[in-house]
Amino acid sequence: MKIVIAGGSIAGLSSALTLGCIGHDVHVYERSDVPLRGKGGGVAVLRHMMKFLEQHGHYTQHMISVPTIMRRRIDINGDVLTEEPEKLPFSSWDTVYRSLCAMLPKDRISYGQEVVGFTEHDKGIEIDLDRGESVSADILVAADGIGSRTRAKLFPNYESRFAGYVAWRGIVDESAFSPQEVEALVNNFTMFRDPGHMFMAFLIPGLDGSLAPGRRRFNWLWYRNEADVAAMHRHLTDDHGHQHHASISPGHLSTESFEELCELATRHLPVTFQQLVRETRAPFFQSIFDALSPSFSVGRVALIGDAACTVRPHTASGTSKAADDAVALAEALSSNTEFHVEQVLALWAASRREAVGRLLVKGPELAASFGLGSTDT
Ligand SMILES: Cc1cc2nc3c(=O)[nH]c(=O)nc-3n(C[C@H](O)[C@H](O)[C@H](O)COP(=O)(O)OP(=O)(O)OC[C@H]3O[C@@H](n4cnc5c(N)ncnc54)[C@H](O)[C@@H]3O)c2cc1C
Repeated sequence: MKIVIAGGSIAGLSSALTLGCIGHDVHVYERSDVPLRGKGGGVAVLRHMMKFLEQHGHYTQHMISVPTIMRRRIDINGDVLTEEPEKLPFSSWDTVYRSLCAMLPKDRISYGQEVVGFTEHDKGIEIDLDRGESVSADILVAADGIGSRTRAKLFPNYESRFAGYVAWRGIVDESAFSPQEVEALVNNFTMFRDPGHMFMAFLIPGLDGSLAPGRRRFNWLWYRNEADVAAMHRHLTDDHGHQHHASISPGHLSTESFEELCELATRHLPVTFQQLVRETRAPFFQSIFDALSPSFSVGRVALIGDAACTVRPHTASGTSKAADDAVALAEALSSNTEFHVEQVLALWAASRREAVGRLLVKGPELAASFGLGSTDT
């Protein structure tokens, strides 16, 4: 079958790989003019994504992640409150993204082309691109993220929901500090919590994928409850005055937001974490939203990754869920040949929607246990 994929991030690339693997003719259209390099933060590479990378690209965990040794919680003075052994495979969004890009033949993806609409007919689906061009396919896979335009067309009345808290995030080179300054953070997953906010930091690979001491980077995340929606919109306005739906990418915070972040850090964080924030050249901002598409398929359209359902970051499963969606979709489309394509997609969609149920419950529960988010989630 000919399959068009809208969106060339983790979900889009994963599905291009799995569907290509079983012989379908796939093509990805990504609206960004260039590959998305350098834009993401740290990610925990969970079992399913790791298995996916091992099977498709022969990557192994030690090639792409910096494991932690201890999970530590510190107080405002930097003293250790609790400490327990925990081996978490932290990598970076970039490393996972680059691994997936390296596996996909280059002629299978077009950059700078946005999917703007589609029309279904008896024998297939016609997909419209932003420059007036259109392409025919048997299936459209919508991997266009939390603000999915495809989902909006299918379900115009559906809206994702603000979870009541935001995340300030950043990445800073390990080499920006003397070894003594960051000794306590290396090898550890370090957290600081106070009512209404939680800060965490851990090491991830360097931008070139390097795992060597001194060439790695610290990733930090600072979740903060945000009851003031006007303040959130202010932080979602970039350095050019454009308002965004859910996030501001690295390097595009307004000067006012950046100054407010530094001022908040000075007032509320232990000194080591203040240093991480201050040394970060391009912090970024994300509002935490919950999204669950009313259905993961309609006719010949399948929604995957964040377009189908966005889970809370505490479950550390956004990329793994995207890989699971892609594997399950390929499994469905390699069997069930006695069914019509719409039926196959409907069966796949129902089973994936059920499968994510556990994560949808676990995310808000974890957030609540950290004192994050609105209580009605
Ligand atoms: C730049 C970036 C950085 C990220 N960093 C992290 C991170 O550090 N940690 C973490 O846990 N998660 C991160 N995420 C989210 C994480 O990648 C996702 O939860 C998960 O990987 C599933 O993503 P996705 O591919 O479904 O959606 P997304 O990653 O949101 O990708 C959607 C893609 O679709 C493209 N697109 C949107 N609309 C259209 C359209 N109409 N036509 C064509 N293309 C379109 C977008 O440009 C984007 O590339 C990041 C996402 C992005 C885009």
